[in-house]
Amino acid sequence: MLNCDLHCHSTCSDGLLSAAAVVERAAANGVDMLALTDHDDLDGLAVARAVADDRGVAFVNGVEISIEWQGLQVHLLGLAFDRTDAALNAGLAGIRSGRIERARRMSADLEKVGIHGAFDGAMRLVANPNLVSRSHFGRYLVANGVCRDTRSVFESYLVPGKPGYVQHRWARLSDALNWVHGAGGVAAVAHPGRYKLSRADMRRFLSEFKDLGGQAIEVMSGSHTAEHVEIFGRLAREFGFLASRGSDFHGPDESYVDLGKLAPLPDGLTPVWTVF
Ligand code: AMP
Ligand code: MN
Ligand code: MN
Ligand code: MN
Repeated sequence: MLNCDLHCHSTCSDGLLSAAAVVERAAANGVDMLALTDHDDLDGLAVARAVADDRGVAFVNGVEISIEWQGLQVHLLGLAFDRTDAALNAGLAGIRSGRIERARRMSADLEKVGIHGAFDGAMRLVANPNLVSRSHFGRYLVANGVCRDTRSVFESYLVPGKPGYVQHRWARLSDALNWVHGAGGVAAVAHPGRYKLSRADMRRFLSEFKDLGGQAIEVMSGSHTAEHVEIFGRLAREFGFLASRGSDFHGPDESYVDLGKLAPLPDGLTPVWTVF
């Protein structure tokens, strides 16, 4: 079976390695097919493809789009699209444009609990200032001794109800799907096990996604438990979704799973890469 890893990040968003280094690492780990899926940004794709061509890794254009569904932040993967598509690029630019202002509001909220300088601290850690994210704030909180690791950051800070979390308007599900489909791509729900949705709401979300032309969900994900794999494998079969596999690698010391090191997709599912 092909070793396909269709979800990972570079310094173009909140990853710790450059796009070129991500591809080098994937090649060294035996990945046959790689999608780089930075948050809301396509800047790493050209370099990643060039390195992948050089290393004999099949490369798939990717992006992880931040959307809001019923007040909840959800991530969709766009895969195998035309990266020069104007509407997709404009849509992603729109999502990026709110991030700096959001970061200022996050920092102001952290000030209230006595954490100073978070905006400047987070901005010092970004390679792409348009893509300042909660990850960069998390790294700042760890570097400053506020939290011991990024996992504990997201238990006590930066999530709904905790200091440093602010409401933000992301893209709409229908808009994100239109951008991906308009650019000739396939959309997949990223790490569906991560969302705090009831079973009924998850089914409603998946139905809406499917009605809007969504074709795939991640079944194997670096942030899924064995139970999630079971649940979302079953839902993929029931809804007729293609199944995706992605580590969600962000960096050597920060990720649960390294590039290409996830278990294979369970039997009985149709891999999303069969339609690329
Ligand atoms: P943002 O797009 O600014 O909302 O940042 C979201 C990013 O924060 C995700 O892509 C992850 O990299 C990181 N993140 C969110 N929740 C967690 C968590 N529970 N554990 C580790 N990283 C997280
Ligand atoms: Mn991330
Ligand atoms: Mn995500
Ligand atoms: Mn991701």
